[in-house]
Amino acid sequence: MSNTHPAPSSSKVPSTTKIPSTLGELDLPTDVRRHLTVTLGHFDDRQPPSSESDKRYLYRALAISVRDRLVPEWQQTWRRMWQSDDRKVYYLSLEFLIGRSLTNAIQNLDLDDETRSAMHAYGMELEEVADRELDAGLGNGGLGRLAACFLDSCANLQLPVVGYGIRYEYGMFHQHIKDGRQVEDPDHWLRDGNPWEIVRAESTRRIRFYGRTEQHPDEQGRMKTRLVDTSDVLAVPFDMPIPGYRNKTINTLRLWKASTTDVFDLAEFNAGSYTEAVATKNNAEQISMVLYPNDASENGKELRLKQQYFLVSASLQDVIDRWVKKHGDDFSEFGQKNCFQLNDTHPACAVPELMRLLLDEHGMEWDDAWEVVTRCMAYTNHTLLPEALERWSVGLFSRLLPRLLEIIYEINARFLKLVDQQWPGDVGMRREMSLIEESDNPHIRMAYLAIVGSFSVNGVAGLHTQLLESGLFKNFAELWPRKFNNKTNGVTQRRWLAHCNPGLRELLNETIGDGWQTDLTKIDQLAPHATDPAFRERWQSIKLENKQRLADLVKETTDVDFDTSFLFDVQVKRIHEYKRQLLNVLHIIHLYDRIQRGETAGMVPRCVLIGGKAAPGYHVAKLIVKLINDVAKVVNADAKCRDLLRVVFFPNYRVSSMEVICPATELSEQISTAGKEASGTGNMKFMMNGALTIGTLDGANIEIRENAGDENFFLFGLDAAEVVETKKEYRPNDIIAADPDIARLMNILESGTFNPDNPGLYDLLTGGLRSPHDPWVTIADLRSYIDAQAEVGKAYQDTDKWNEMSILNAAGSGWFSSDRTISQYAQDIWDVRALPPLK
Ligand SMILES: *Cc1c(COP(=O)(O)O)cnc(C)c1O
Repeated sequence: MSNTHPAPSSSKVPSTTKIPSTLGELDLPTDVRRHLTVTLGHFDDRQPPSSESDKRYLYRALAISVRDRLVPEWQQTWRRMWQSDDRKVYYLSLEFLIGRSLTNAIQNLDLDDETRSAMHAYGMELEEVADRELDAGLGNGGLGRLAACFLDSCANLQLPVVGYGIRYEYGMFHQHIKDGRQVEDPDHWLRDGNPWEIVRAESTRRIRFYGRTEQHPDEQGRMKTRLVDTSDVLAVPFDMPIPGYRNKTINTLRLWKASTTDVFDLAEFNAGSYTEAVATKNNAEQISMVLYPNDASENGKELRLKQQYFLVSASLQDVIDRWVKKHGDDFSEFGQKNCFQLNDTHPACAVPELMRLLLDEHGMEWDDAWEVVTRCMAYTNHTLLPEALERWSVGLFSRLLPRLLEIIYEINARFLKLVDQQWPGDVGMRREMSLIEESDNPHIRMAYLAIVGSFSVNGVAGLHTQLLESGLFKNFAELWPRKFNNKTNGVTQRRWLAHCNPGLRELLNETIGDGWQTDLTKIDQLAPHATDPAFRERWQSIKLENKQRLADLVKETTDVDFDTSFLFDVQVKRIHEYKRQLLNVLHIIHLYDRIQRGETAGMVPRCVLIGGKAAPGYHVAKLIVKLINDVAKVVNADAKCRDLLRVVFFPNYRVSSMEVICPATELSEQISTAGKEASGTGNMKFMMNGALTIGTLDGANIEIRENAGDENFFLFGLDAAEVVETKKEYRPNDIIAADPDIARLMNILESGTFNPDNPGLYDLLTGGLRSPHDPWVTIADLRSYIDAQAEVGKAYQDTDKWNEMSILNAAGSGWFSSDRTISQYAQDIWDVRALPPLK
């Protein structure tokens, strides 16, 4: 889409804000009309668009018109960034779960009224047009969404930060439900073009795979290593704008697309092998073809390692190229002036790759190069699940990245000397800490590589960081205690409150002013209003409107009627055993059982919504999706349940659906096995929007409870230490037998109530629940969960009290802004300041 209109000529453009905000000095309605007819070649008769296709044209015309308005400030921000010699940060992430860009740009550029009235000329509401934008789903879940929230906050704080990622042709799969089961469809999000990207072909980089190393003397006669006989792929950058909030700052997310080095392999072409030549092209382009849909698990696929190295090498070359243009081959200050934040271990190849570039391509010696690398790499860990820790087989690595493997061996040899100094003669410690896990099939421990090569290692919530230091990375924390630090995650209140909850936004602006949009700590000024009856009433009526909006969406997508007078009880997140959607289902079955037995005194009517994607190869998670759908079917068809319980599995959970779900939620389910959820960020979005949490002492739930007040949080279950204790002698069958409620609900589940035509379908799930080795100890927490849910019901019946608790949750959410998180990264890790104004 870069060629849809000319860039402003660069030579004579004044370097001030005087650059016209519209390229042709046209007003927005005229721009939309021009883009619709001229740019897109679509016939525009100003009639309300009748077909879906017409509406998509209108969306594109509006998006391009809005983009026109941010391009000048985007260019200026880029100049501000590179004219300054201050330290820069590069956020390296295999995932950026951006969602939609149009409404975000409209909000941040303050174009709401203008765009709204321009759409009225076409008989359309802005929302209806904006709904045509496909989510940029370049991520799986929390980790990818965190990267997107972080970029938003960096732009809001005007920090010199560039995001680097991969421009996947296919993002997160689209989920639909057929006969209660998840079916995956490819997400070809670029099919209508992407108005938010600009290709920068001039900054294309060459990425070298395979081949072998050889020694050669350099100009000074020193022996150096080089790679030969490689098979190369090009990385072409596409830039996306990240607008700050009304601050004339537009940061950049640079996404790499893989491309063949030559359009055709000429030799093959000349030999008449046209199709083979084109196939080579496709092979190269495979690298950026599809996002791996696994959340919190790794599976050792060659293509995945290629993606990781592709991102890392392209991004490092990009940064180094810019450095060399300014400083030549003097890298003495490179480490002080640049910082790479690694979003989990996925980009950990950055450590040996930067070594390679400095040693082999810029003539540095090992010690100097290592000094540079360890001054500029910082690593964020995202998981405590041992099965999610990345390992790559040495065999694969030596074929695909032979030079990197040599460098990793050298890093390891030097590192193990240090281990020897710290723990003399301790062979066990050497084996434990080695970057290479020795066995018949040795593997590289990528997390250890990231720790050794970084000056900072952080966890993403207080508990998570503590558990890293005392568990997974204990030895490293002992060796380098000052490397380890905590940065509790956050979310951007501009998307997750101001944009998605306009009713509440206006109430907040009116009540406490609009400063909270850029400084969420101000939201604590809500607290005194929690006891004001008139305020509570307005609070409640906004929630009711949001519930109606969600009910409409639920009706449209699932044909289930959600009654807005019921409690809206929501669990949306990736489907994973540790997140325990099963625990939620067991509670639903308990309610169903009570209704069947007429034990409904004091029962609060509920609409339960569960949504999320299961990794396509994760059999148990997919079976849980099936169970949720089967339970929903039975419950919703049961006349006795009609006034008390509705259940829905919400298909294709994604960013744009969360924007409707979180403002409407009253009860947020954060029920993971304690010690397993690193942080969670969904929990924060709900809290900001006034939901109360029912949760375990896990991840950021702990900090949510501290900030909301214990009395405004429904706590249940074992804490992390108790989970460890419980596992030593865990007998779920005894618990089930001793508790009549639990025994009955298990019997309902196991007797085929939800799978009459498919006996045994859920044996895998019920067997897991009953196993003494159940890693998630679901049955251990069930009684406590059922009781806490009863407390929720009681609290909900006292409407005034519930509203008060809801207000106090929102009022306590100031800590969970990603602006706070990013300020801490900027201060404690990056040591960067806001961009200076343009000179
Ligand atoms: C916030 C968010 C997540 C993360 O949710 P958790 O409950 O923290 O796992 C995942 N997916 C989407 C679409 C989100 O918006």
